[in-house]
Amino acid sequence: MTFADLGLSDELLAAVTESGYTEPTPIQASAIPSVLMMRDIIGIAQTGTGKTASFVLPMIDILAHGRSRARMPRSLILEPTRELAAQVAENFEKYGKNHKLSMALLIGGVSMGDQMAALEKGVDVLIATPGRLMDLFGRGKILLTGCSLLVIDEADRMLDMGFIPDIEEICTKLPPQRQTLLFSATMPPVIKKLADKFLSNPKTIEVARPATANTNIKQWLVPVTASKKREKLEELLNAVDVKTAIIFSNRKTTVRDLNKLLQRAGFRSSEIHGDMEQAQRIAELERFKKGEVNVLVASDVAARGLDIKGVSHVFNYDAPWHPDDYVHRIGRTGRAGATGVAFTFATADDAENIENIEKLTGLKIERFEGAIDEAHAEGEGPRKRTRGKKVEPKAAAAAPKAQPVAEPAPREAEPVREAPAPRGQRQPRAERPAREERAPRDTRPPRDDRAPRRDRREPDDGPDDGWNGPMPDFLMARIPL
Ligand code: AMP
Repeated sequence: MTFADLGLSDELLAAVTESGYTEPTPIQASAIPSVLMMRDIIGIAQTGTGKTASFVLPMIDILAHGRSRARMPRSLILEPTRELAAQVAENFEKYGKNHKLSMALLIGGVSMGDQMAALEKGVDVLIATPGRLMDLFGRGKILLTGCSLLVIDEADRMLDMGFIPDIEEICTKLPPQRQTLLFSATMPPVIKKLADKFLSNPKTIEVARPATANTNIKQWLVPVTASKKREKLEELLNAVDVKTAIIFSNRKTTVRDLNKLLQRAGFRSSEIHGDMEQAQRIAELERFKKGEVNVLVASDVAARGLDIKGVSHVFNYDAPWHPDDYVHRIGRTGRAGATGVAFTFATADDAENIENIEKLTGLKIERFEGAIDEAHAEGEGPRKRTRGKKVEPKAAAAAPKAQPVAEPAPREAEPVREAPAPRGQRQPRAERPAREERAPRDTRPPRDDRAPRRDRREPDDGPDDGWNGPMPDFLMARIPL
């Protein structure tokens, strides 16, 4: 099947061809014709499957005719985090280059004035995180009665972040005669109920989890003592053919310390974690994407969903506490058919975490017993030093031994991700560990016991209290497509 078989316009096909895509992915092949026929859709798919284009492409053609009106967006895409919202906006820019559609991004951390000005002019596509949208709605700055197409993306993550009440409220503000597309990696009962309530005769499309067959990630487990981790990391970074690497740590403090250490040691590294301002996070990601730095030290804020091509290596400096995070972290490499290598450091204390990861993936991770050449096996080319090297950001990793990764199975009674205790029981700020440093999730209360929505903070969405730095161009509110 080709994109031309899906019923898309010639202008759109030209933009797709320019993107270099020749064949639709399974979710695109199933969803695009149905969306063009104005069907409601439940897409059970996760990032990496091409799901963004499966709604962005038909939306561009649907919205090609008609005019936007002040404060009345014609379509709305809800995303759980600012990063994902910005990524969807990039997709609109890429595929919509031959159309004259306007878009606005409503996300926390960005000056509300600019966003309101964009809305005043009228937009065809509004991409928003629920918190900021509700805020503007509460101020009477936005009317959703002209919004005939709604996309709820990453619904299960919205649930994790406590956004479902907001989503329900937003749905009631849209006209009942609308098209609704809901995407979720899993279908826990709450999401099923949401779909039953707000979608009309939806077509359900479920696609295979991408990592089960497509990912070529060579995984290594690196036994190490806590005191030798830094040394081991430097040794590996210098020895293996690292083009671009993300180094994950469980703690924000470790992210900061590690980045400083690597910079001092001459590596071109930067950091990203939930304590940083949004502008800074975007700037650091951009630097990494452009190849200005080729090592990114990250907390789990960067593990899910972010699509950065050509990451050759992932290092789990700390074994993740939750096995799902392992799959998401290593999934930052080996994307779009490329190959990648993932090293996971494991101390004696990590035995249980590793056991859980291996249970989830159904694979025993090969032990890397210290011979660097092992990690460099099978024609991976000459060794290179990472520090100071100008990298080609889009380069794929050298061919490692393939080892398919099973994605986590859908979990219905999933432990909560980042739910803090109810206010009265919380420790004073200074005594509390940072959000990413708290107890492993399995020890946290189940979803239904969580504190009410307003008591929680979205871990990826940071403080919602204004923009504190220069705004990158692509976040400027109105972007002609
Ligand atoms: P997504 O699941 O939307 O996050 O997309 C995952 C990655 O697949 C992104 O890098 C897309 O640019 C890429 N992609 C989307 N559609 C296709 C396609 N038809 N062929 C190849 N790559 C694609």
